[in-house]
Amino acid sequence: MIATETTLTTVSSLVNGKWESGNGEAHPVFNPATGESIASLPYSSVADVNRAVESAHAAFQAWKETPVVDRVQPLYKFKALLDKHANEIAGILTRENGKTIDDARVEVRRAIQMVEVACGMPSLMMGDSLNDVARGIDSRTVREPLGVTVGITPFNFPAMVPMWMYPFALACGNTFILKPSEKVPMTPTRCVELLLDAGLPANVFQLVHGGKETVDALLAHPLVKSISFVGSTPIAKYIYTTGAAYGKRVQALGGAKNHLVVMPDANMEKSVEAIISSAFGAAGERCLAGSVLVPVGDAAGPLLKLLTEKTREITVGDGSTEGMGMGPVVTSEHQKKILGYIDKGVAEGADICCDGRVRSQESDGYFVGPTIFDNVKPGMTIAREEIFGPVLSVIRVPTLDDAIKLVNSSEFGNTTSIFTQNGASAREYQSRVEVGMIGVNIGVAAPMAFFPFAGWKNSFFGDLHAHGKDAVYFYTEQKVLMTRWF
Ligand code: NAD
Repeated sequence: MIATETTLTTVSSLVNGKWESGNGEAHPVFNPATGESIASLPYSSVADVNRAVESAHAAFQAWKETPVVDRVQPLYKFKALLDKHANEIAGILTRENGKTIDDARVEVRRAIQMVEVACGMPSLMMGDSLNDVARGIDSRTVREPLGVTVGITPFNFPAMVPMWMYPFALACGNTFILKPSEKVPMTPTRCVELLLDAGLPANVFQLVHGGKETVDALLAHPLVKSISFVGSTPIAKYIYTTGAAYGKRVQALGGAKNHLVVMPDANMEKSVEAIISSAFGAAGERCLAGSVLVPVGDAAGPLLKLLTEKTREITVGDGSTEGMGMGPVVTSEHQKKILGYIDKGVAEGADICCDGRVRSQESDGYFVGPTIFDNVKPGMTIAREEIFGPVLSVIRVPTLDDAIKLVNSSEFGNTTSIFTQNGASAREYQSRVEVGMIGVNIGVAAPMAFFPFAGWKNSFFGDLHAHGKDAVYFYTEQKVLMTRWF
């Protein structure tokens, strides 16, 4: 449990139906806008993790046998409680993550939509049925839950990403253990409090905290049946290979380097609005953030003029101030990493048109101002690696074909968008790029809760994507039943 006032509080774990302090080492949680420590997070020990898994396993059979219409009742109440506490949750989120209060409110709304969709599980979980598949033989498929399922989540969407997982897992009849990001544990913990207030049997859900040691204990535990992971590519790869080696079902969503292609016929004003929100919204800490802008042919001139003008108008400050354009990045280490990338861009010869480094020196918060590099070459570090901050690299190309080749040369394939008024260009782009989520005239092409979410290539390891129908398939095992009566 957590308190929401400004005093230093301790963030609890939920193990075996009880809120408790983790038995591992305690780590501070910071407010990125001020650099102040706002909470203490005791990590779960390996023994805590083992108790959580055993308790979740013990609760599984009864939860699985609870009719699906009854399993979704706590989720309906959870949705109502999330609605009621949406502003409070957004406030906690901004305090520990740094994103603006508007971005936080949008995130909470997106999280609620996951719960809304999972409430439809009685229909979503239905199988197929066909009589007389052979003479006198009827056949049908049924879906059964897996058992103890686990979610490991990143810092950038502490309300929404856990809900890509647990509303679906629980409604399918699984028990669930969440290990949220240690950088932002307060938001997910507050949501879990509301889940219990909604009447979910306590042992059906467990919450553990920590870093690698906690994750490794979950990966290795024989009673854990599946792992859902969202985070950076190296860790996603590690989770996928280790989880699979332990025989678990794994979906691991990784990092990104997303291209926004702008054709000369694009509506420049509306495109720039969408590009700015994509590149600098949530301080660029979104796996769907546009980070490489690719003007085609004559698009570059008018696009860059308008883009740099509008970018200079973005206000940067404490995200809890209503109307703030951009908040800080999540930690001081992450701030240093982003500033290092900007230095590297300059050193490698790109032209810096908006320099966010200036803003980083103005206060104790972890700020980086919106940064734009022009004349970036495809081989440069800032063109290839995920920066996960408010840095946009512009690579000018002569034709749409060149743009497509550039996008497809990336090791990542999470999302991309094309800005154009020409249907044929858009269609060609959509069909030729090797990317999982594709927008046309959309800055952040985030699939809604009822569609699946994941990228291609090094942005995703696994088969079934997050949320939508894929979540139902991921969190269930299928049986085919054949029946004949003599
Ligand atoms: P991260 O990989 O550092 O951490 C993610 C989770 O893994 C956390 O819970 C963390 O505790 C755990 N972890 C960290 N190091 C570990 C290790 N060595 N072994 C085991 N577990 C470990 O990611 P982050 O910095 O919290 O989040 C940002 C990253 O997440 C970015 O790369 C972003 O692109 C990605 N992301 C991807 C998506 C997507 O849908 N593909 C969505 C959101 C974020």
